[in-house]
Amino acid sequence: MREHANAHDADRVLLGVEEVRARILSAVEPLVPVELPLQEVAGCVLAHDVHADFDLPPFSSSAMDGFAVRAADVGGANRERPVGLRIAGEVRMGRPSGTALEEGEAAAIPTGGRIPEGADAVVPIELCSIDGDRVWVLAPVVEGEHVRSAGEDVRAGELLVPAGARLLAPDLGLLASAGVASVSVHSRVRVAVLSTGDELVPPGEPLAEGRIHDANAFTLIAAVEEAGGVPLEAPIVPDDPARLVEALEAVADRADVFVSSGGVAMGEDDPVKRAFAGSGEIDLYEVAMQPGKPQAFGSWRGKPFFGLPGNPVSVFVSFEVFVRPALLRMMGRPPFRPPAKAVLEEDVEGLPRKTRFARVRLRRRGDRLLAAVTGGHRSNLMSPLARAHGLAVIPAGVEVLRAGETCSVMVFRDPEEA
Ligand code: AMP
Ligand code: MG
Repeated sequence: MREHANAHDADRVLLGVEEVRARILSAVEPLVPVELPLQEVAGCVLAHDVHADFDLPPFSSSAMDGFAVRAADVGGANRERPVGLRIAGEVRMGRPSGTALEEGEAAAIPTGGRIPEGADAVVPIELCSIDGDRVWVLAPVVEGEHVRSAGEDVRAGELLVPAGARLLAPDLGLLASAGVASVSVHSRVRVAVLSTGDELVPPGEPLAEGRIHDANAFTLIAAVEEAGGVPLEAPIVPDDPARLVEALEAVADRADVFVSSGGVAMGEDDPVKRAFAGSGEIDLYEVAMQPGKPQAFGSWRGKPFFGLPGNPVSVFVSFEVFVRPALLRMMGRPPFRPPAKAVLEEDVEGLPRKTRFARVRLRRRGDRLLAAVTGGHRSNLMSPLARAHGLAVIPAGVEVLRAGETCSVMVFRDPEEA
């Protein structure tokens, strides 16, 4: 690894995007697994294999409304020569199935009712004719017909869901049916979101001269949620290192990771760097990317800290490039989603030393995606980002990607959804 930037040589060292990302990913690890009730684990990654304690289904039951019978009794039944059986009882849902069937007997049974001892098949109700305490069976059934047998889905001891699986709706249904009430998972990462800047005012409050609304907290809260984490919002922090320390301390116990925006410019009085002087560790980088050049990464109370730049577009790009992969890794998930390939609809200029993340709108044409730049490249311009579906990656040193050439796009919005 190359030497990273410190306060003195920051201006001169530009670190590559991949290098910074690799460094970040090597510094974060999956959260220690916790046992959580099934209600709280949708989307989480299972930390251990879960095996079935008992057969699924747990008992043999009827697949139809009808009559439980002994198949041997009705082997010769047909409409001309129905077989008459004595109705020995009625199976009720959720109840034991009652006494065993003797030869020549049947029991009424609903779908899901437990097959009585002695019975080995079910005659659907439409093939039965009831006459007092007798039922006439109008067609034969073979052994096992219309019966869901115990263990046909999962056998006791079999693997239900493997470690590493992300628990989605079908997995939760399966675990619940196997009686599993809690599982050990990598929980959702709790992310403290902090905005720094004397100029910031929350939306909904009036803007005094020279002030702007805090956009970044909202970008980050939504991005954290989209990644499957839990955002913890902190109040806006003025450009005062003591106040930043206070704000970090206030959420430190609840948070697994901190993400701040603003205040990581390289000046000596940069509040983020100064806040870390006593209590944390931090590296400031200049990353070879546009937008998002100034970045800070370190730890506070042993938990990862991301100091993102202040410009709103830089914040989102930095989140996608650095923070999201780290959060996914902490949640036990693969850090990257594969980029899409898109054909540029116009020339896009690259930069000699920096990777450019250009905001693009995507359209599908047949089996191809077409990408068009949505607006200016400056990192304060929020509307082109809001109109975009993805970030087209123009590698450092590429002078220009021409219309018709293919580029990689980090897609963050489904182009089919407006
Ligand atoms: P900084 O990195 O703190 O110098 O901020 C760079 C630019 O981003 C400045 O124009 C700030 O006003 C702006 N900025 C910083 N934080 C936010 C925020 N939370 N919402 C919107 N703009 C911000
Ligand atoms: Mg600032």
